[in-house]
Amino acid sequence: MPALTPETLRQRVRARLREQRTLIERLLRRRELVAGSLFMRWGDCGKKGCVCQTGQKHGPYYVLSRRSGGRGGFTYLDKAQATEARSLVKAHRDYKADLRQLKKVNEQLVALLRQYQEATGRRGDRRVGMPPHPRA
Ligand SMILES: [Zn+2]
Repeated sequence: MPALTPETLRQRVRARLREQRTLIERLLRRRELVAGSLFMRWGDCGKKGCVCQTGQKHGPYYVLSRRSGGRGGFTYLDKAQATEARSLVKAHRDYKADLRQLKKVNEQLVALLRQYQEATGRRGDRRVGMPPHPRA
C-alpha cells in the first residue's frame, strides 16, 4: 500500500467520522424493533371434502418466529400485525447491519490514525536523551 499524504489521511479520518456520526444517529433513532423473522404458512385441516384436500391449502398464516436467548417462540399474526411485524423485523436487521458497519468504521479510524502517526509523528527519543531512532 503506497504511503498516503497526511492531508489525504486527515480527509479520510474526517469522512469516517461523518459516517460514524450518521450511523450512531441512526442507531439512536431506531428504538422499536423485533428480533426474529416472519414467514407464511399454509395449512391442511385434514377434513374430508375440504378444499385443502384438493391442494388449495388454508392460509396464508403469518408466523413470527422470535429468537430469545436461544429459545424460539412462534406467534401467529393477522395480516395487519404481519405488516407491522415485517417492518419491525426489518428494523432489527438494519440495526444489526448498522452496528456491524459502525464496528468496521471504528476499525478503519484506528488504522488511519496509526498511519497518520507514522506519516507525521516525530519521536521524542532525543528529548529524553536517546540517540535518534531510525525511521521505519
Ligand atoms: Zn381444510
